[in-house]
Amino acid sequence: MSAKIIDGNALSASIRSQLAERAAALKTKGVTPCLAVILVGEDPASQVYVRNKVNGCEKAGMRSLKDVYPADVDPAVVLARIAELNADPTVHGILVQLPLPKHFDAEAVLEAISPAKDVDGFHAENVGALMQGNPRFIPCTPYGVMKMLESEDVKIAGAEAVIVGRSNIVGKPMAMLLLAQHATVTICHSRSKDLAFHTRRADILVAAVGRERMITGDMIKPGATVIDVGMNRFSSGPNEGKLCGDVDFETAKEVAGRITPVPGGVGPMTITMLLTNTLESAERTLK
Ligand code: NDP
Repeated sequence: MSAKIIDGNALSASIRSQLAERAAALKTKGVTPCLAVILVGEDPASQVYVRNKVNGCEKAGMRSLKDVYPADVDPAVVLARIAELNADPTVHGILVQLPLPKHFDAEAVLEAISPAKDVDGFHAENVGALMQGNPRFIPCTPYGVMKMLESEDVKIAGAEAVIVGRSNIVGKPMAMLLLAQHATVTICHSRSKDLAFHTRRADILVAAVGRERMITGDMIKPGATVIDVGMNRFSSGPNEGKLCGDVDFETAKEVAGRITPVPGGVGPMTITMLLTNTLESAERTLK
């Protein structure tokens, strides 16, 4: 058996074209959705992410602002800029690219963003709202995963969902979203005993660890839906240096019912959902 591939690029393209239509409709009402992105330092991966986010805005007919600061900037300067953006009615989303340099208190920076513009959904107020089942902004990666499950009509209610990874940005919000849709959720992490025992029970398996190909075909229930959030690089072999996920795609696709590839799976969905959050924030200003 070979699993059906869930194509994140195709789904993204279709969502983004709908976003462009909604952005155009908003413009006729005098509102241009605008995302402000703050980048501190010269981390090459962060530079690529920020570029993709800014380009994504442009292609969807949204405005973006980009502030770039040197790695040794005084955090007070960044906090002052966030305060300015919070007060600017033409800005609907504010995002600080993580990770921040070590001399920053990242939590304080994220909490400084107005919850009404926190399009990453990392502010404690938005985390709490998600936990209570009344989300304002859903963190982009788990939001994208939910859209992928929806697009495939994956039955979530009553399903055994196993998430490997418990980070604040992926694992935990992922668990809340699946729980809200009535899955029976298990969260695994580095201290979990017998990981394969859990993963083999999963009808829906989400891997968000950051370890090259750690989930192999023998750890997957036949027919399961496997979502690979991981973004790693092959450390050896003919594909050395190329992108790979947390799931060993070659063995997993022989067992799973559906599977997301890396690249071309969850990655493109993350930025698409960031654009969605920004657009929805702009739409809310008219309500
Ligand atoms: P974190 O490093 O914050 O969290 C990793 C989680 O994996 C932790 O909860 C950790 O457990 C757990 N873990 C580590 N080793 C094991 C193990 N051997 N067995 C079981 N669990 C383990 O990572 P993120 O959540 O930020 O990201 C996870 C991956 O997803 C990364 O590869 C990242 O690059 C990728 N990513 C991709 C995105 C996309 O758009 N596609 C967006 C965001 C992330 P513990 O808590 O006990 O330490």
